[in-house]
Amino acid sequence: MAHPSIEEFQAQALKFLEANAERKAAEKKFVWGEGSDKVSMFEEKDRSSERRDVAKAQEWRQKKYDAGFGWITGPEQFGGRALPAAHQRAYDSVESKFDVPNQGCFTIGLGMVAPTILAHGSDLARQSYLQKMWRGEIIGCQLFSEPGAGSDLASLSTKAERDGDEWIITGQKVWTSGAHYSDIGEIIARTDVNLPKHKGLTGFIVDMKAPGVEIRPLRQMTGGASFNEVFFTEVRVRDDHRLGDVNNGWNVALTTLMNERAAIGAGGGGGGINMFARVIEMAKFYGVPNDPVLRDELANLIIKNRVAAFNNQRALDKIKAGQMPGPEMSMAKLVGTDNMRRMGDFLSHILGAKLVADSGEWGTYAWSQLILGTPGGRIAGGSDEVMRNILAERVLGLPKDPGIDSTSAFKDLKTGTQKA
Ligand SMILES: Cc1cc2nc3c(=O)[nH]c(=O)nc-3n(C[C@H](O)[C@H](O)[C@H](O)COP(=O)(O)OP(=O)(O)OC[C@H]3O[C@@H](n4cnc5c(N)ncnc54)[C@H](O)[C@@H]3O)c2cc1C
Repeated sequence: MAHPSIEEFQAQALKFLEANAERKAAEKKFVWGEGSDKVSMFEEKDRSSERRDVAKAQEWRQKKYDAGFGWITGPEQFGGRALPAAHQRAYDSVESKFDVPNQGCFTIGLGMVAPTILAHGSDLARQSYLQKMWRGEIIGCQLFSEPGAGSDLASLSTKAERDGDEWIITGQKVWTSGAHYSDIGEIIARTDVNLPKHKGLTGFIVDMKAPGVEIRPLRQMTGGASFNEVFFTEVRVRDDHRLGDVNNGWNVALTTLMNERAAIGAGGGGGGINMFARVIEMAKFYGVPNDPVLRDELANLIIKNRVAAFNNQRALDKIKAGQMPGPEMSMAKLVGTDNMRRMGDFLSHILGAKLVADSGEWGTYAWSQLILGTPGGRIAGGSDEVMRNILAERVLGLPKDPGIDSTSAFKDLKTGTQKA
């Protein structure tokens, strides 16, 4: 069947949105001291309001999917509409003019887990999960990090042992965002301890409600509990829920991580334009333009944000052109979170003690939430140091980082000879 033209598609999207959502009130100009002064990196919700918001987000996804806008670019045999990416962009630009429920609970499932299931899942897994995920019926989480394996993910020790047509998974994962409202998780486990660490791993889809799965919340320093520890005690997973070949889990993990950096990088580090505009209004309110040192700091901040926006645009253009972005994503992630840190430093120079002691004054102590959340952004999806290693090796062509267990760690860097 012929594709609808972009104009026809946008007209259909507009009709759907007008019938099902409210148009956003015209962007109100931000005025210092008016409205809420809340600024944060993470949404700090209690579990019951989070549950309500997740239900609203799911309801909206269902409506959107049933109207034909839920999985615009996906393959038809798994429930997508097989339309070009330009149609997705056209829909997004119309939807951005409407108030729709926040879709944050789907970021990991749809942004990272679903593309991995599509690339590596069995036909049965793709048929069972993809449509339901894109329709918002089920939510996915990412079960990679462990207490002893984060940056060096391939050191993970959760094991999966074969038992006929099933696998038995035992171990512990940590920092699992959204595990408490997820239905399925993408897990990477060790299936062969005798192979080199990257080669003995396998990916699976695991039912988060299966017997033997225990989820415990982790409270972060901002007060909320967005993450969890997840314990697996002899959890059974059918072999048709394996992702990719046995012992090929490293490639499965890379598919997910590539999508993760694309999602985080394109997001520009959580702050976004409005937060930055707020900083500028605040600087005016506190008379920063009259202080030569702070004025210089602000100018630097503005320049760095502009440069980051251009770099993000470069990566997004690559995606639009159907290419996979490379180190631009590592750069976008590193620069985005570094700019958040700079913004925090700038705020602390203006506000001083008001940032750490609640004086009740509008727009002062509220910033502490953002500052306490920023380090999380600098670790998630690959820490700053790991991003620097990637840029050093892939962009600058410097020698490979000597890993803790690689033989090169013991080589003399000048002569290349092995040390005893
Ligand atoms: C907000 C947030 C959300 C997250 N969500 C998830 C999730 O949903 N699922 C999931 O599986 N995980 C998740 N994580 C975990 C995240 O992937 C890990 O925290 C991250 O990979 C770092 O691992 P680690 O915490 O074990 O730190 P480590 O790897 O132990 O690092 C400790 C320190 O050493 C540095 N370091 C490590 N290796 C090197 C090196 N080679 N060179 C130089 N410095 C190095 C690091 O930069 C860091 O400063 C999340 C983390 C955060 C903060």
